[in-house]
Amino acid sequence: MTKKNIHITIQDLIEVVSSYITDEKEISQIESAYQFAAKMHFGVKRLTGEDYIEHPLQVAYILTEIKADSETLCAALLHDVLEDCDTSKEEIETLFGPTIANLVDGVTKINKLNFDGDNSATTIANHRKILVGLCEDVRVIIIKLADRLHNMRTLWVHPEEKQKEKAKETLDILTPIASRLGMNYMKSELEDLSLRYLKPDVYYSIVEELNQTKAERDNAVNEMVKRVSEILTENGVKHEIKGRAKSIYSIYKKLDKGKKFNEIYDLLALRVFVSTEQECYQALGLIHSKYRPIPKRFKDYIAMPKTNMYQSLHTTVFGFDGYLFEIQIRTYEMDEIAEHGIASHWSYKENGSTVAVMQNTMEQKLQFFRSIMELNSEEPNDEQFVKSVTEDVFKDTIYVYTPKGDVIELPAGSTPIDFAYKVHSGVGDKMVGAIVNNNIVPLDYQLQNQDIIKINTNKNAIGPSREWINIAKTAQAKNKIRSFFRKMDKDEYLKKGEDILSKELRKRKLSFNEFLSNENVVKILKELKYEDLSELYINLGNGKLPVGSVINIITEENDTKEDIILRKTQIKDVVLPTVKNDVIVEGIDEIKVNVASCCKPVPGDHIVGYITKGYGITVHQAICPNIQDLEERHIEVKWNSQISKRYPTNVLVRTLKNDNILLEIISKTSNNNISIQSINTFTHENDNTYELVVLVEDKDKLTKFISDVEQVSNVIEVQRFIK
Ligand code: MN
Repeated sequence: MTKKNIHITIQDLIEVVSSYITDEKEISQIESAYQFAAKMHFGVKRLTGEDYIEHPLQVAYILTEIKADSETLCAALLHDVLEDCDTSKEEIETLFGPTIANLVDGVTKINKLNFDGDNSATTIANHRKILVGLCEDVRVIIIKLADRLHNMRTLWVHPEEKQKEKAKETLDILTPIASRLGMNYMKSELEDLSLRYLKPDVYYSIVEELNQTKAERDNAVNEMVKRVSEILTENGVKHEIKGRAKSIYSIYKKLDKGKKFNEIYDLLALRVFVSTEQECYQALGLIHSKYRPIPKRFKDYIAMPKTNMYQSLHTTVFGFDGYLFEIQIRTYEMDEIAEHGIASHWSYKENGSTVAVMQNTMEQKLQFFRSIMELNSEEPNDEQFVKSVTEDVFKDTIYVYTPKGDVIELPAGSTPIDFAYKVHSGVGDKMVGAIVNNNIVPLDYQLQNQDIIKINTNKNAIGPSREWINIAKTAQAKNKIRSFFRKMDKDEYLKKGEDILSKELRKRKLSFNEFLSNENVVKILKELKYEDLSELYINLGNGKLPVGSVINIITEENDTKEDIILRKTQIKDVVLPTVKNDVIVEGIDEIKVNVASCCKPVPGDHIVGYITKGYGITVHQAICPNIQDLEERHIEVKWNSQISKRYPTNVLVRTLKNDNILLEIISKTSNNNISIQSINTFTHENDNTYELVVLVEDKDKLTKFISDVEQVSNVIEVQRFIK
């Protein structure tokens, strides 16, 4: 166990290191790294009052718990000298070699950015650096985690504001990384410390509750350990069992989800260690035969390891005295990986290099690593990158399975579309449907933990639907769908453009090959400032470039430059956008526009656009009372004169009682090209009221209709009305 917050010396460090590093050269290099750092930091005190060298010593000491190699330990001892002292990367390289120098430099780069972290753009660029830094040498991040752990242990010296800032950054970026790297022992302590400074009242109330119930819980756990141990021994399974304290942060997370303290049943927890995988299942069977398990709480992470390599059997049983116990069963080797994750691979070397092994393992076994790399190559914008990583990779995740049993990690709320694209873009692009746990589901189905998902593909599928961009949850899937369309649009426009040109040439009885002679092509590209013919075709295909202007470049060679410019600007005017909406919103092309159903405006009415939350723009009559007090949401709109159709609107007719009057009213519609969509009749003592919804082309026709109806005898009044 690491000593926490106790003064340690280089002798303490060497003693621990010697237990797993035997090479004397390596040991003496660690000593000289210490001497150099001690000299550099000499006379400097930390805020805690200790000599500064205590900090790098503690960081190295923390790393011995994961049996860090000597290069990492040297770099840990030297990690602050570049930043705080009068030395250079070159000097470190001369003294300790390039690998250690690079590690120290890597940590320094991350820290430097962190220290001016009040600028949010810097913080973001900074986070990207940390995330991407994983791909170079993961040991930089591991040193950074240990550095942060020691700083968090001594965070009490700082003012509250700084404490909260550091705690938040730790939770946002560093603990998710520790978790994804499988380094639970660091993750747990970092989380608990962060909570202590971020929400001290919650933290201490949990600590107090735990203390109050400690005697009772300890007693129950001890009894249960004894009983489980007996069963295993009786059946010849060699084992060790430990009672296990849940971390304060994990309790906080459950309380935060609305659970009561006494409902968190895995407060009582045991961990059973055995030698082989087979014994894990044997132990599980023996425990289940004696204590009733809760079926939904059983998880087999041995057959289906978590994406951070974690393996274990989890079960919850009604144990001693009716208490619920969460029991984890694993081998010693699984435990090593569960606690130290990627760092449990220190001891394997490939061509003498630890880092190669670790980087390889990361690429093969850690999905988050691949996701980060993919997002890094696709997302140039820092802010978007960090947002995507935080949402796709670090937020609440679910674990789902392929039909073959491979685990896929996705953010909560993901759909079959996200799954398909996570598996392979080829699968996503050819997807035609999804089957979850043997049931066909719609593509917007929200995947649940443990779902088994089969994606149906069809090799003839044309590709994803644009709608999927809105359904997908992950930036990864959205990016891949967008890039599919970027590519497809390009291909399609290219073909279409070539087609347009060849048709137009045929029409003008010009030969395609002659027209596109080398000489002409050079002239056309130069004139239009295009790179190549593809660019020409794409612009023809997407309608940005009228085909006539291309042909004119060659056929009207005698024109002056002014003529050409003039013609271009004229052509530009002619190309009117086809607006499909009934109503045009100035400056906005692709927005949903709806005509309001309360006041039902018709062309000719004075109208106003109203920006709704989430549903585009609704067009109201300017006089509609429903929008009067929300002027900041108004936007100027006008009717699209290119569209002629009939619009529904409300007309109210009040009449004296008369049996045939409705027929007479209806007869007036035919004069005005109006039809009636619906009629509601309200009968009163002396009069009738008819609420009509009529379809009408414009306001003039409507006014004419209203005055026609007013002429009908026994009609008292006719008016439009707003609901
Ligand atoms: Mn430091």
